Amino acid sequence: MHVIHIGSELAPIAKVGGLGDVLHGLSKELVRQGHHVEIILPKYDVIDYSHLRSLKVHYRDLWSFDGPHRYNNTIWSAEVDGLNVLLIEPHHPDCFFSRGTVYGCRDDIDRFLYFSRTAMEFLFKSGRKPDVLHVHDWPAAIVPVLYRDMYIPLGFVTKKTVLTLHNLEHQGRCSPHNLTRIGLHGEHYLDKTLLQDPASPQLINLLKGGIVYADKLTTVSPQYQQEIQTPEGGHGLDAVLHQEQLKLQGILNGIDEDFWNPETDPHLVARYSTYPPYLEEPFAKILHAKEKNKAHVRKHLRMTENKKPLVACITRLVQQKGPHLIAHALERTLERGGQFALLGSALDPEIHAFFTALQEKHSNNPDVSILLDYNEALAHQIFAGADLLVIPSIFEPCGLTQMIALRYGTIPLVRKTGGLADTIADSQNGFVFETPDQKGVNSAVDRALALWKNQPAEWQKIMKTGMAQDFSWKQAALEYATLYKALKT
Ligand code: ADP
Repeated sequence: MHVIHIGSELAPIAKVGGLGDVLHGLSKELVRQGHHVEIILPKYDVIDYSHLRSLKVHYRDLWSFDGPHRYNNTIWSAEVDGLNVLLIEPHHPDCFFSRGTVYGCRDDIDRFLYFSRTAMEFLFKSGRKPDVLHVHDWPAAIVPVLYRDMYIPLGFVTKKTVLTLHNLEHQGRCSPHNLTRIGLHGEHYLDKTLLQDPASPQLINLLKGGIVYADKLTTVSPQYQQEIQTPEGGHGLDAVLHQEQLKLQGILNGIDEDFWNPETDPHLVARYSTYPPYLEEPFAKILHAKEKNKAHVRKHLRMTENKKPLVACITRLVQQKGPHLIAHALERTLERGGQFALLGSALDPEIHAFFTALQEKHSNNPDVSILLDYNEALAHQIFAGADLLVIPSIFEPCGLTQMIALRYGTIPLVRKTGGLADTIADSQNGFVFETPDQKGVNSAVDRALALWKNQPAEWQKIMKTGMAQDFSWKQAALEYATLYKALKT
C-alpha cells in the first residue's frame, strides 16, 4: 500500500513532542511491514540536517498559491533513518519556514495552510496516486477539505483520507480570509456543518474541517477516543466528534524500540537488556546498570549520591502536564525521603517563572535538580537512572514517557487519563491516581515510596511486569494497515 503522511513534525529531524515520534515510529513499522511510505514536511531551517541522507532536489518550479499571487517552491527528497521524506521549500517573501522554530509564529495559520496547499499541489502535479493520505493534527487538517473540494474536481485520485488527532487542544482557529488566501472560498465554509467554530461563529476551525471531511479519524489511544466525545475532554469539538463517532477509532501509539532501547542507547553509561525473556540476563545485572546510570545522572545534575529513591519527571511544561501537580510531587517526594529530578521545557513565560521560583527555593538542596531545558541525551539518562517517573497530566492523548519508562525499568506514576489509563494499571506496572489534585498525588507518591523502601521484592515485581510488556509499533501499525485497507474508493 502507498501511504503518504502530511504533517508538521518528524523525529529526529524536526521534533517538538510526541507527534514527531509517532510519524517516525509508525512510518518505520509500516515500511517494515512492506508498505510504501512517504512523509511530506516543511523544509524548516531548524531541521537537524545531520540526520538527512541523499538530500536532493526532487521537483523544481512547483507553483503554489497565496491570494492573487503565485509562488515558486522547491521540493527536496531525502532519507531519514531509511524513510522517504519530501521537504517543501517555499520561495515566498514571508520565508514561512525560516523562522528558527517549528511553531510559535504569529502567522502559524498561514504558514501551515500554505504548506498544506502546496503539498496537495505537489501530489497532484507529480502524478502520485497514493492509496491513503494520512494527515496529522490541525497543521495539516485542511488537506481532506482541499482534497475533496479542490483536487478531486481537478482529477487527483487517492483512495481515502485519514486524520489522526494527536491533541485536541490546538485547533487552528482563523478567519475565513485565511482560507481564501489558499484558494478556498472562506465564507462558504463558515457554516455549522462545515468549518465554523462551535464557540466563535465568525471563525473557521481547521481541525473541525479535518474531522468533518476526512474519511476516517483516529485518536492516539482508545481512552482518548472516548474522552474527546465529552464536554470535559472535547475542547469544544465534542459534539462534532460525537456526531462523527462512526469514523472514529482509537489506536494506541507505540514507541520506537530501536531508539528507546537501553541495550543499545548511546547516551547511557551502562547499557542493559530489558527485552523479554529478561530473566535470561540476571535481574541483578539490570539493577546494577541502573545504579550506574543513576550515579551518572546525580553527578551530572550535582545531586547527592545517597540511598534515596530517584524520582523524575521529563516533560514539556504546559498546563496539560499539570505543572502545579509536578511541583507538588516534588515537595511530597522530598517529605517522604526521596530525591527529585525535573527536566522540563517551558515556553510559557508564566510557567517558566513558576519553575524558576521553585528552582531558587531548592537551590541549596542537593536532593533536587530542576533543569528548564530540552535535552535529549539527558532524558535518556534519566529514563535509565530513575526509580520512578511522575506523569500527573490533566489530560494525555496517549503519552510516550510512561512507555519509555517501562522499557527502561523505571516505574511510572500517572494520573488516570487518556493513554496513561490505557497503559498503566495500578500496582501492576505502575502507580495510578485519579483526581488531579494534591491529595491524588500524595496517595500515589506515598504508596510508591513506601513500597520502594519496605518491599523491594514487590517493587521489583512491578519493574519486571513493565519490562516484559510490548509497546513496540508493531501492533499499532497492523491496526493502521487494517484501517487503511478497509477504506474503499
Ligand atoms: P507530548 O507530545 O505531549 O510532549 P509525549 O509523552 O507524547 O508528550 O512525548 C514527549 C516526548 O518528548 C518524549 O519522547 C519525551 O522523552 C520527550 N521530552 C519531553 N520533554 C523533554 C525535555 N524537556 N527534554 C528532552 N525530551 C523531552
